[in-house]
Amino acid sequence: MPLIVQKFGGTSVADTHKILGAARKAIRAAQAGNQVVVVVSAMGKTTDHLVSLAKEITNRPSHREMDMLMSSGEQVTIALMAIALESLGYKAVSMTGAQIGIKTDSSHTKARIRSISTDSMRKALNAGKIVIAAGFQGIDDEGNITTLGRGGSDTSAVALAAALGADECEIYTDVDGVYTTDPRLLAEARKVTQISYDEMLELASLGAGVMHSRSIEFAKKFGVTVHVRSSFSDTSGSLIVATPESNTAVAGAAIAKNEARLTLVGVPDKPGNAMRLFARIAEAKIATDMIVQNIGQEGRTDISFTVPGNDLTATLDVLKTVSEEIGAEHVDYQENVAKISVVGLGMEKQGGVAEKMFRAISRKMINISMITTSEIKISTLVSWEDALETLREVHSVFQLEKTPSQLNSQLNSSELPLKPAKLLKSDLDVERLSGMEDILIEDIHLDQTQARITMPDVPDKPGIAAEMFERIAEAGIVVDMIVQSCGRNGKAIITYTIPRTMLDTAIEVTKKLADEWKSDKPLYNPTVAILSVRGTGLRSHTGLAYRMFKTLADGGINVNVISTSERNISITVDNAQGEQGLQLLKKEFANEMI
Ligand code: ADP
Ligand code: ASP
Ligand code: MG
Repeated sequence: MPLIVQKFGGTSVADTHKILGAARKAIRAAQAGNQVVVVVSAMGKTTDHLVSLAKEITNRPSHREMDMLMSSGEQVTIALMAIALESLGYKAVSMTGAQIGIKTDSSHTKARIRSISTDSMRKALNAGKIVIAAGFQGIDDEGNITTLGRGGSDTSAVALAAALGADECEIYTDVDGVYTTDPRLLAEARKVTQISYDEMLELASLGAGVMHSRSIEFAKKFGVTVHVRSSFSDTSGSLIVATPESNTAVAGAAIAKNEARLTLVGVPDKPGNAMRLFARIAEAKIATDMIVQNIGQEGRTDISFTVPGNDLTATLDVLKTVSEEIGAEHVDYQENVAKISVVGLGMEKQGGVAEKMFRAISRKMINISMITTSEIKISTLVSWEDALETLREVHSVFQLEKTPSQLNSQLNSSELPLKPAKLLKSDLDVERLSGMEDILIEDIHLDQTQARITMPDVPDKPGIAAEMFERIAEAGIVVDMIVQSCGRNGKAIITYTIPRTMLDTAIEVTKKLADEWKSDKPLYNPTVAILSVRGTGLRSHTGLAYRMFKTLADGGINVNVISTSERNISITVDNAQGEQGLQLLKKEFANEMI
């Protein structure tokens, strides 16, 4: 018998009327001949309310008690949903995370799922019952209640679908699908019919709150088809799959409104310092993004990165200690910055996306204070006031309001199967994972064809990055990684990598620009190696970047430019150490490779 998992988010179960509506959807699925598992969130803004109650007492409530408190929201909904189903004449049973056997680690408020027992659910399903599962929660080995992080019911739903081998996981929410950007922010956003796991994972991680990013890691690993659709209508929504029918250079744009930028200024430039910093941050389970380590000058370098705004205090605490440990000059930070990113699988094959994005932003005289790129995403940091306008310009320059066929520029692959491929091919693979959310590495790669150029002090004003990368593109040079960060004295530092064969041309173009801008001559390294680790959910597994740095530092290898995304972490090292670095990383990650 086919099995379907349906998840209803907070707004979809905000009152008893809506709970009855959701119950009817579950009944319809059952009548169509499916076994049905329903996963629910807390009603409406219940979780926010519970959090604010604790905050009325103290600003630093213990994480264990926060989990006890927050998990109560979902317990109310499961009971009401089961009561609704029974009142409509259907057999149903509600289950908490503990009753199901959703085992997690003990990182309260950010727990990861280790295993899910399917026995009790199967028993109930086989007895003809609709199973109502509490989202967002689990239980650790000591029997403590844990929660998976805000928005985590999506992850519960997809994880249950994976464990049960469900045919589909439907995510019912208050929008009718995944849009090219948040439709509540931009009216011109367009609903997509299909989107790939990699794109959705990246978008979710960069701020598209429609899905909890970790749910997409599960979907990709275990091959779960996810259907995001409206609770309040019957129109079909968006499918999240391995290979969408068509793709364009840019699939969507995301905004993370509440970010903070931190810089550790004047870090002695030697192996191990970046490692120490990220080790401490990883221990605090803070997910960093937009990591930029400037090319060292006079033996010192600056390391900047962004974190979600609500992790700022915790990050500052960490930096205070680390700063002393490694002898950095001081810590600098900026609140109220926003990260605007574009994501697309097609970017890998189609150049020109970066300069187009930078130009669109500069046309509005908006200053970009940081840039980082990876294979399938480009992120820019702007001030909070400029965020919405930046998003609008970026959405418009890539014509995201138009369908791929209207854009007429895609690789059409409609004959590809819709059913997604699993990353984990056999039960053996699944067993090898000690936890369902463990990291999986697909590939570790060494690219020895690149060179690196740094402009150490370009003017920090609108249009600089646009001008620079347009001129480089005009010279026929394809740029790989780009990082820009604010340097000292209001100057920006831009570093990029290019194929070595293009180095002379690139130096020529960059020197001309330096003359025009009256800035220092570019620095370059003709032979860099890029070491990349490719996998799933690399950024949200906060310890991974740290392990990469540590492994290289232990081998005496200095890390230069860093680029992180959910499916890729790349770093440049000196070419002479590339091969050694590759072997060290292969050894370090041997157990996680698939
Ligand atoms: P739920 O409570 O059902 O989990 P969420 O509020 O977590 O709902 O997610 C749905 C919201 O996500 C939408 O109301 C929308 O404002 C927001 N959102 C952000 N980015 C996107 C996007 N790219 N596509 C659709 N919705 C998005
Ligand atoms: N109720 C939880 C929250 O508000 C989980 C969820 O809704 O996904 O974060
Ligand atoms: Mg949600």
